[in-house]
Amino acid sequence: MPVIYLDNAATSFPKPPAVAEAMLRYMREVGASVNRGVYASAQDAEMTTLLLREGLCRLFGHNDPACCVLTSGNTMGLNMILRGWLRPGDHCLVSSVEHNAVMRPLQDLAAAGVAFDRVPCDGAGRLDPQDVRRMLRPNTRLVLLAHASNMGGAVQDAAGVGKICREHGVPFALDAAQTAGHWEVDFEGWGLSALSVPGHKGLMGPSGIGALLLSPEFARGLTPIITGGTGSASDMEIQPSYMPDRFESGTPNLPGIYGFQAAVDFVTETGIPALREHETMLTARLLERLREIPEIHLAGPWELEDRVGVVSVDFQNVDNAIAASRLEQEYGILTRCGLHCAPAAHKTLGTFPQGTVRFSPGWFTTPEEVDAATSAVAEIAGQ
Ligand code: PMP
Repeated sequence: MPVIYLDNAATSFPKPPAVAEAMLRYMREVGASVNRGVYASAQDAEMTTLLLREGLCRLFGHNDPACCVLTSGNTMGLNMILRGWLRPGDHCLVSSVEHNAVMRPLQDLAAAGVAFDRVPCDGAGRLDPQDVRRMLRPNTRLVLLAHASNMGGAVQDAAGVGKICREHGVPFALDAAQTAGHWEVDFEGWGLSALSVPGHKGLMGPSGIGALLLSPEFARGLTPIITGGTGSASDMEIQPSYMPDRFESGTPNLPGIYGFQAAVDFVTETGIPALREHETMLTARLLERLREIPEIHLAGPWELEDRVGVVSVDFQNVDNAIAASRLEQEYGILTRCGLHCAPAAHKTLGTFPQGTVRFSPGWFTTPEEVDAATSAVAEIAGQ
């Protein structure tokens, strides 16, 4: 039985072949660190790291590669924003569909005296930017939103929220876990202060690496949550203040950097419009067939506008975990079931505590694979 991978929202698979080739080249032929040697292989590593920063900036409309910090992943980037910026007495706004990578650090901070509110989203998981304006307080120091929900797939109006934040002088940070590599993200145009992206989802790189793009102003006010050796300013025992060293301590994940760089090249060459067109075509097909199955409930928007290809289904007559297990055992279809680390999103969309079965096609998914999935859903749901 062929395997049909529909769990790209968790991590994309397969990866473009150039990703593994670049990682192998690093392991076999380079092997050096950055900022710590001047020999040729160290310069190779240095150059690849720079190309990665430049490629990410180009992709996300940011014009200062020094302010593109490489992280160990999106969760780290989000923690760096929240823990490095908010202080007791501050207020933060998030949406009502955030991932636990935001909610758990925020709950920790709340225990230490940071206040937060959730901007309500509608039944499809979308917020109204005017509610952000309404809920700002004099002590609001940050608005942080998931650009798209990893549960329902709705994309928020980041440009609209960015405009309101700019008017009120409040920094705006975006968690682009589900939109980086899927959707246009315009750092400068939307007035972002911070953008956190994972390497391993839509950007099609390896796991264990991500990036945090910062505005120079936000970077100056952000406290590093990790300090240590940077290979620079080694005469001092205090952390360098310049970018990106201020936020990059320790020997970096170089195999990851090589793979991520090749992945960002692939995404850039393919182009976001083509990636998005393919995803929209698959999502349209998926939704069209799911609409004909009365025994399922869709958690998220039926419309194609302003949504990514994250399609969550609540089986009405079958336990969702059993449905997901049957999809794998009987049809070879790999999905994710449960609460997807986002209990708040399920509460907002009405699927708490039962969760959903999530289908997320990717760049390498074919229309026939999507059809196989919808036929299997119809069979399981109808029995
Ligand atoms: N935010 C969202 C919206 C996500 O979908 C995810 C990953 N599921 C994360 C944050 C955390 O990303 P990572 O697990 O790659 O650190």
